[in-house]
Amino acid sequence: MPVGYENVSARGLSLVSSGPQLRLKPGRERSLLRRHPWVFSGAVEAVVGSPDTGATVQLRADDGRFLGWAAYSPASQIRARVWSFGENELPGPELFQSRIETALARRRAEIPAEITDAMRLVHGESDQLPGLIADRYGDSLVVQLLSAGTEKWRDALVGILRDRSGCARVYERSDTDARELEGLAASSGLISGAAPDEPLRITEHGITYQVDVASGQKTGFYLDQRDNRRRVGQVAAGRDVLDCFSYTGGFALSALAAGARSVLSIDASAQALALAKRNLALNPALAGRADWLEADVFEALRKLRREGREFDLIVLDPPKFAPTAKDAARAARGYKDINLSALRLLRPGGLLATFSCSGGVSIELFQKIVAGAAADAGTALLLRERYRSAGDHPVRVEFPEGEYLKGLLLERA
Ligand code: SAH
Repeated sequence: MPVGYENVSARGLSLVSSGPQLRLKPGRERSLLRRHPWVFSGAVEAVVGSPDTGATVQLRADDGRFLGWAAYSPASQIRARVWSFGENELPGPELFQSRIETALARRRAEIPAEITDAMRLVHGESDQLPGLIADRYGDSLVVQLLSAGTEKWRDALVGILRDRSGCARVYERSDTDARELEGLAASSGLISGAAPDEPLRITEHGITYQVDVASGQKTGFYLDQRDNRRRVGQVAAGRDVLDCFSYTGGFALSALAAGARSVLSIDASAQALALAKRNLALNPALAGRADWLEADVFEALRKLRREGREFDLIVLDPPKFAPTAKDAARAARGYKDINLSALRLLRPGGLLATFSCSGGVSIELFQKIVAGAAADAGTALLLRERYRSAGDHPVRVEFPEGEYLKGLLLERA
């Protein structure tokens, strides 16, 4: 008798009942019934059959109830990622195409073409395509296949994405820690189409940026901060701005576009700063004084204080300090350190735009950390605005992990 035969429905010998399965421990189906798409290794009672890495498995509760179709990942703590919760929604090119079309339609509705020609088209779990990231930069697409399941379906996913987006070429940037956790080797390079003759450029909120998709950070640009760059830029008029962790100049250029008096940008990456300077040159209309400092922000903030420097707007947009909640304590020390140092450089009436993209640090915790820094600095802060990621990074209510970016605009009273 085939494995799972006892569960065959009235419809007869459907695919649903054959093939490999993950049986969950009693009670561990609860998050899946809420449609959270991850199964952790500790929730698995038994693996029935011998699925390969990335293979499609059925998820079944302890009582045999069908829970979903998932990609199996034996190397990862996230042992399976759900492709679909419908018994009749089998993963495969047809399902992927429909998910990708839904994702593209959402972006078309959400982001008018005049705002940008660069956007995240697919945001993994939040678009019901676990482990799949696809960013469009003009007519180039950059994909990340970050899970065993996406690796298994690589050709189908890349083909559909290229067709549906109409992009001329596809780069891969699957060179992240996430992929290592899945037991997959890093993989990057041009995987479809011909390399462009010119460096790749995008225009976001009227500002032109060159994007290095082949060797820049992430897929080349921090798309999630698009609207925050604009909002923070808008309060920069007439101010002396300090842009910490500036990467290729996103906040700095947005501040100059809005009439900042001066901007000092700090980043540890010489490559990022070189591109930031290039980006300034690409936008001749931007006025104001721009200075660049290649340094560690933690040290540079202390040095600026020793030099008696002061600013009217400080941006802190550090990399992820805490990927998960277990790193939160260490991350909290890092956030407190830079926020405290920044507050000591802020003139009365000055603004601090402070961000965290750590999934392991909630907005409540982040606000507490900043309040602690304000107390230590002896400054009173008023909360002016809260920030989150742009609309091409949707958040599903059942997947709070998708809401990793948070920010506060604070005024020194
Ligand atoms: N604000 C940017 C994105 C910042 S990403 C934008 O809008 O595009 C984080 C940046 O922090 C990266 O460019 C990275 O090079 C830099 N970085 C990481 N650790 C750093 C450190 N200790 N000191 C200075 N820069 C650092």
